[in-house]
Amino acid sequence: MKVRLDHVGIAVSDAETAAAFYRERFGLQVSHVEQVASQQVRAHFLPAGECQLELLEATAPGSPIARFLEKRGPGLHHVALAVDDIHGALAMLKTAGVRLVDETPRAGAEGALVAFLHPSAAHGVLVELKQPAVGAAAGRPPAVPLFRGPARMPFGDVELVSLSDGFFALDGGAMFGVVPRTLWEKRLPPDDRHRIPLGMRPLVVRGAETVLIDAGCGDKMDAKSAAIYALDRSYHLAHALADAGLSVDDIDVVVASHLHFDHVGGFTERRADGRVVPRFPRARYLAHAGEWHDATHPHERNRASYLPENFLPLMDAGVLTLVEDDAELSPGIHFRRSGGHTAHHQVVTIASGGRTAVFAADMYPTSAHLPDPWVMGYDLYPVDTLAFKRAFALEAIEREYLVFFEHDPSMAAGILRERDGKRTVERVL
Ligand SMILES: [Zn+2]
Ligand SMILES: [Zn+2]
Repeated sequence: MKVRLDHVGIAVSDAETAAAFYRERFGLQVSHVEQVASQQVRAHFLPAGECQLELLEATAPGSPIARFLEKRGPGLHHVALAVDDIHGALAMLKTAGVRLVDETPRAGAEGALVAFLHPSAAHGVLVELKQPAVGAAAGRPPAVPLFRGPARMPFGDVELVSLSDGFFALDGGAMFGVVPRTLWEKRLPPDDRHRIPLGMRPLVVRGAETVLIDAGCGDKMDAKSAAIYALDRSYHLAHALADAGLSVDDIDVVVASHLHFDHVGGFTERRADGRVVPRFPRARYLAHAGEWHDATHPHERNRASYLPENFLPLMDAGVLTLVEDDAELSPGIHFRRSGGHTAHHQVVTIASGGRTAVFAADMYPTSAHLPDPWVMGYDLYPVDTLAFKRAFALEAIEREYLVFFEHDPSMAAGILRERDGKRTVERVL
């Protein structure tokens, strides 16, 4: 397990006075103050190099910090070690017989997941394990607000429900291709490992049928990959479906924009006996025939993105139908080939009541990818992406399409606008 010192927690009776001491004597400044309601504590954070001091002040009598102060007076409260995979770390400690205060992680300050070891296990020190929020740099919360949803809206005669399968993070340079960092980092600031936070936002269309477009990465990913991608599925598709009043049994049709793992991992699930089976028991699944061919004949450049367990079991179960460009997937819902990202990558159009919504998938992964040449380094055919985007943007602005950004960390959907030659996205969801 790789850990790094994240912060030192100090219980204080008066955070203002304590902060003044560290400011006047050591030049440390308070970067932010956060109230953690569940713990009845207010924390002042003072960055000091790669780590920070956390001054803890009780907000209610009887709270954990109030009790600590009563018993021992102000002083060292805990030491926090950052880990990439808190679930894995807890499992290892538990197996080794280490006494834990928290066997499962809970929500801490700065959007992190935290868990405490018992002081008796760590030579008299209360040790906090902390998995920082996706996109958080050392001692700093994520630079962009993370929007989780679900978010729903009526759209013509149907209802659109944007869901979440959690967040992950990818190398910022790879996400923006040839665009220099000095330009993209203003839109999506990277963490200290050069990664930017990304959402996974499947979309449900409730009309004549209930259609699910993409399903996030699902829960089959191993711990090593989950750590590489800073996967945060503390709130995932099952939670989002439940919050939207839906269950897996409500889904009639499941559509794949393309077969990359961050889009179709949630199409299947692993049962207790190890078998991988379709996750939506009543649904028929639709994917593009050309994309299927490429996914089942991968090469060195795309192999890591196509995980057979995400789509082969659908074919084996006889629930997958392969369709061509422009196929009608359900009444009013169509594929439209964008190519570029993969040869047969599809955006999905939803027409209802004279309006059009477009699920852009990896054509516009985030709203920061609006400029035509801001094309991902991941794209197999970037010049094709550019050509599609160039034509699509004009059409989307002209017809006021509602565009869904599947990987945007902060926004689910918006309308493209152009004013004085400058393009912007007006957020809707
Ligand atoms: Zn993709
Ligand atoms: Zn993607």
